[in-house]
Amino acid sequence: KKIDLIYTRLRTEERMILEALRKRDCAVELHQDAELVLPLDAGRWSGGNVVLMRSMSLTRSRYLAAILEVKGARVVNSARAITTCGDKILTNLALAAQGIPMPWSFAGFEEEACLAELERRGYPVVTKPAVGSWGRMVARIDGRNAAEGLLQMRFEMGGASDHVALVQQYIDKPGYDLRVYVLGRAVGGIRRRSEHWVTNTARGAVPERYEVPESHATLAERAAAAVGADIAAVDLLETRSGEILVNEVNHCVEFARSIESTRIPLPELIADYAAGVHP
Ligand code: ADP
Ligand code: ZN
Ligand code: MG
Repeated sequence: KKIDLIYTRLRTEERMILEALRKRDCAVELHQDAELVLPLDAGRWSGGNVVLMRSMSLTRSRYLAAILEVKGARVVNSARAITTCGDKILTNLALAAQGIPMPWSFAGFEEEACLAELERRGYPVVTKPAVGSWGRMVARIDGRNAAEGLLQMRFEMGGASDHVALVQQYIDKPGYDLRVYVLGRAVGGIRRRSEHWVTNTARGAVPERYEVPESHATLAERAAAAVGADIAAVDLLETRSGEILVNEVNHCVEFARSIESTRIPLPELIADYAAGVHP
């Protein structure tokens, strides 16, 4: 079976996936995203029929997936999934449309309007860039003074596409959040423990194994389906009272920092999935 793997850099993840694919007798063709120049027409893609998208760039992965789909390839994940997961506002909307439990959230476009909404809803809240990852610029707002400063920065810095505020209910987690890996179905998960309320492993949280209960697995599968993702890492927040809410869905699964301690064979599972996809 021929599989095209599109990447930005061959990180630990891509190397392990590549090795797993080759063990399965897949003919893998590697394409660096930056080197691809594709005509915007419906001409067939010269590669295989299945493309595994591992580009680290949202701009590149979204456009490349969209182009390759028109050219007849089955891209994992699809352009729609990448577009939805790549934007936390669109993700929340897709989850809401399916009635999936999540922290309440709103989008706003101007400081005063957002502040007025916050006065109605109350603090603490979390604001984060609609497009972002690795916990960057995820900020907790405990009261009006911080809200004014942060919202002013949100609306006066950056470019036009940055001028939207995503505001979410702050969830008081019990020292960790949960991540469930879904490849068609839930295959396992990790608990990310931290002293800090931001629990990304990129920010120092410690990954631990967790046995995913059926209810969490089902919720994660529903969340992945809501955004149309074949392969996803679904972040769940647990409240102090044990309620489970979906926080976000990541379309490009990373595992370099967690595979040692959790032993979930994600490279093998991803390779199996890609090798089993029918174009
Ligand atoms: P990223 O895509 O950068 O990982 P997330 O939305 O997952 O963005 O936020 C990063 C981390 O911040 C989460 O893993 C979680 O620990 C914390 N966090 C994010 N939103 C909330 C929230 N509404 N309540 C409590 N913690 C949150
Ligand atoms: Zn994310
Ligand atoms: Mg996250």
